[in-house]
Amino acid sequence: MTCLEKVNQYLARIEEKKDLNIFLSVFTDEARQQAALVDQKIAAGTAGALAGMVVGIKDVLCYQDHPLQCASKILDGFHSQFTATAVERLIAADAVIIGRQNCDEFAMGSSNENSAFGPTLNPHDPSRVPGGSSGASAAAIAASLCDVSLGTDTGGSVRQPAAFCGVVGLKPTYGRISRYGLAAYASSFDCIGIFASDSATVAKVLEVIAGADAYDSTASRREVPAYSQRLQAPAKARVAYIRETLDSPGLQPEIKAAMEQKLDQLRQQGHEVSEVTLPLLDYILPTYYILTTAEASSNLSRYDGVRYGYRSPNAQSLEEMYKLTRAEGFGKEVQRRIMLGAFVLSANYYDAYYTKAQRVRRLIKEATDAIFAQHDFIVLPTTPTTAFALGAHNEDPIQMYLADLYTVQANVVGIPAISIPVGTDQDQLPIGLQIMAQSFQEEQLLAFATYLENLS
Ligand code: GLN
Repeated sequence: MTCLEKVNQYLARIEEKKDLNIFLSVFTDEARQQAALVDQKIAAGTAGALAGMVVGIKDVLCYQDHPLQCASKILDGFHSQFTATAVERLIAADAVIIGRQNCDEFAMGSSNENSAFGPTLNPHDPSRVPGGSSGASAAAIAASLCDVSLGTDTGGSVRQPAAFCGVVGLKPTYGRISRYGLAAYASSFDCIGIFASDSATVAKVLEVIAGADAYDSTASRREVPAYSQRLQAPAKARVAYIRETLDSPGLQPEIKAAMEQKLDQLRQQGHEVSEVTLPLLDYILPTYYILTTAEASSNLSRYDGVRYGYRSPNAQSLEEMYKLTRAEGFGKEVQRRIMLGAFVLSANYYDAYYTKAQRVRRLIKEATDAIFAQHDFIVLPTTPTTAFALGAHNEDPIQMYLADLYTVQANVVGIPAISIPVGTDQDQLPIGLQIMAQSFQEEQLLAFATYLENLS
């Protein structure tokens, strides 16, 4: 099949699956033109490493002269002025960008319901959410609307929707992929992540987009291994599982069973599987929500109606213009987080919340490092439940936050983690298994994930 034929097939399917509300923009003509160009390059033998790969991007990644709204009304009418480094590198490797994908507003959420454009539906069961915040990016892979999606993961937003949609989702080490051109939510947590239907494809994309970037000083200068050439199974892995994650009362029994079955299989294959404990588990979510809301309240102060995006037409004075713009432009969840963040950073409470959470972050990192001193990988569920029904947690944000119970650790610590599908529950909804590794061990992580994918 030519690249153009493939793009045309995807375009037809995107149209057919419109009701799932996955794409906010489809770059129809451009994608066709790019595909035709790639076909010529393939014929001439000059095509790049990702020639013909069709990619969708989450609506928080800049793509020059294309709309960017972070699924928020506050960015109404905004077009990117430059292209994110990760997207730029995809294009340079001859991938085709097919469109912009829905998400939770400013990547805040676990269900894709906090979008100014309405929720995305789960392709496995449209009465369920696809997860979030990169819900549509995961759903696009599950519904076969593109080969790869780029999402972002600040607390689980790639892995949790990957689990809910039955696809593979990688959050790399903090700093492995440049954040230049990614609209900031919580800068010390934000990572660009990759969705595909298998880890081998994720590896191919990672080796193209990772690496140093003059535009992001937090992007690591470490060399980028040829991940896709290093997917050989490990001879003997030392695998830890965290007792508290499997004992948690909120864990759906079928997910626990799926984890135990995989761990048994690993034992039978001669790997060393041991139990470890992490008494700090209960503190990870509160730490995450204190630090990320603090960072968000600062990052989102730039949306003031003055320079770009939405401006309230109802204001009579300058101060009212700021207030009404932000009150009308941001959704409820974003407003809640800006207020929480402003509160924890306020002079009277700074030490009690922000400083303390920074210290707990350090303790969680030390506890995680201690596990990795003896083990290569930590295996745990990606989520406590499979995809829940639309509207299920609308009244109770804490219930929604619990969806990230197992994913936030990797972000608080900065380590890489991947979710891969491991079967389904009794409603045929996908279950995700998560693997975490030490910082910058994406090579080992992807090889082990590939091994587990094939271990049936
Ligand atoms: N669901 C989490 C949150 O709402 C994670 C979001 C993310 O990773 N972007 O903060």
